[in-house]
Amino acid sequence: MKKRTTFKIDLGLSDIKVKNMVINTHDEYHIYVSCTATSTQCQNCNNVISKSHGTCKETIIEHLPILDNKVFIHVKWPRFVCLFCDKATTSFHPSWLNDTGELTRPYENFFLNF
Ligand SMILES: [Zn+2]
Repeated sequence: MKKRTTFKIDLGLSDIKVKNMVINTHDEYHIYVSCTATSTQCQNCNNVISKSHGTCKETIIEHLPILDNKVFIHVKWPRFVCLFCDKATTSFHPSWLNDTGELTRPYENFFLNF
C-alpha cells in the first residue's frame, strides 16, 4: 500500500484564504483562494471604503516556487464603491502584490536578487 505524507506551507500572504489546490500535469501548483478583505482605500479620495461592489475577473498571480514547482494563485479581488466621491470603485490590492498585479512581491524580489 502506498503511504501518503502531507505537509503544510505558510504562503506568508495576508488577506486570503485557501479554498482549493490543484497540481496539474506540468507539476504546477494552482492555488484557488478567496479574499478576506472587507475594505480598501479609495484610489480617488483615499478614504477607507467598505461598501462591497462585486469582484474583479479572476487574476492569476505567480508566487515563489514550492519544491521547485511553479505556483499560481487564482483570486477574484473584491471591489468597493466610494460614497465620499461620486461612486468611484476601487479593487482591493494587498501589499504583497506587485504593481502589475501578476507577481507577488516575494517572488519579484527572488528574481531581482538572482
Ligand atoms: Zn473616494
